[in-house]
Parts: sequence; structure tokens; C-alpha cells
Amino acid sequence: MTNQRSPLVIGNWKMQGSLALNASLVHALLALKNVSVAIAPPLVYLATTRQQLVGSAIKLAAQNVAAEGQQGAYTGEVSARMLADVGVHYGIVGHSERRQYYGETDALVAKKFIRLQEQGIQPVVCVGESLAEREAGQVEQVVSRQLLAVIEQCGIQALANAVVAYEPVWAIGTGKTATPEDAQAVHRFLRQLVGSYDKNIAENLSILYGGSVKADNAASLFAMPDIDGALVGGASLVATDFLAICHAAKASLVG
Ligand code: PEP
Repeated sequence: MTNQRSPLVIGNWKMQGSLALNASLVHALLALKNVSVAIAPPLVYLATTRQQLVGSAIKLAAQNVAAEGQQGAYTGEVSARMLADVGVHYGIVGHSERRQYYGETDALVAKKFIRLQEQGIQPVVCVGESLAEREAGQVEQVVSRQLLAVIEQCGIQALANAVVAYEPVWAIGTGKTATPEDAQAVHRFLRQLVGSYDKNIAENLSILYGGSVKADNAASLFAMPDIDGALVGGASLVATDFLAICHAAKASLVG
């Protein structure tokens, strides 16, 4: 059984940017080589960003997708088929901001996951506990409930074409990062959980860490055996910071 995991860094721009700002940020990233990177601009900028990425290996990720279907009378929604049409490779589902502010449930996250895979887009399913849940000793209970909802709805094979992101809610946008050891413990737990269904899928599953990843903490996180890269929010909007994180990922591959 060989480990084919190589580090992946995804920048989640959230509801930030403009045509002008995006163009200069993308331009700065075009120099990246030999490391797997994706960026997730707001949906409205995906098509333009794709054009700016022509000739680059950087992939496009979506921050959201409609759960209902691939087309129809769903005002304001964007389907996975449309995302695929504009060249999207990854789709983020289950981000804590969507769970928290838009009431997205585990069941809805699983539906979005299915819609993405129907169109050949790799879901990036986010799981993570709140501070209260961590303090109550419920980390494993929460992340396993969130991941099992996907496994039960979609089947374990679905994780062969997906990415998991462990994002402790208390570390997102707060400047607080889980220690590499604490993050590693949860990543190992998630891999073992998947391994209880299928060892090969578990071994090859990329599990990213997210939560205030910065240029100065990325290398120590990437040095952990079960941390396969990062989902980066704030630092993905600053070209030098994001480039440094991507370079740390690349160095972890050769190191
Ligand atoms: C995120 O939004 O997925 C995230 C990890 O944000 P930040 O890096 O800003 O904590």
C-alpha cells in the first residue's frame, strides 16, 4: 500500500476581492511551480479567474454549490454543473461559516457533496469543533459525526475522490492555531475513522488543516505525518504570505 499523498494548499478568499484586486493577486501566484495549489474566489469571479490562470497549474475551487440539483427554478443558486462548466476542480462544502451563518446541516453538506461529485468536482469537506465543544472534550465526537454524515449518505468510495479539511472553528480567522501536535491528533483520528471502512482510501486521503495558517506556522504543521496541506483563509489574500505557505508545502514534499 503506497502513500500517494502530496501536499495541497487551497486559498479560500471568502467574500473578498474585486476584479482589480483579484487580477494582481492571481498575477503574483502565477510563478508557483511544482506544488498543488487551488484558489477559491467568490463565485461571481470564477470565470474571469479561470482565464487569468490559463497556462498555470493552479486549480480553481468554489466556495459553495447548490444542493438541489443541476438546474432549475432556484433563484440565486449556482449548480455544480455550472461550476464544472467554468473549470472548477474543487468545491468547498461544510465550511463552519456556512454551518454557522446559513444553518447548513450535516445532511445538507452531504447533498452538496453529491452534487459536486456528479459533475466530477472534488468536494473539500470541512469538519471542526467549536471552542465550547473542545473544552467539553467532544472533538472526536463532533468531527466524526460531521464526516460520518457524508460517508453514510455517499458511501466510503466517495472519499476516494474528495479532500477533508479539519478546521477547528475557534482557530478560523482568530489568529489562534491548533498546535501541530493537537492538529495531528485529530487528523490521525479522522484517517483512522476512514480506515475503519477502507484502509486504502484512508491512506490516500488528503486531510488539510485550516485555522489561521500563516507563513510562520505552515512548515511545522506540514511536518506532521497526517497533515497533507492547508485550507487558508486570511493569509491567502496576501500574495507574499500565500506564496510562503505554498513554498512550505513544497519543501515538506522534498524534506
Ligand atoms: C478558512 O476560512 O477556511 C480559514 C481557515 O480561515 P483563516 O485561515 O483566516 O483562519
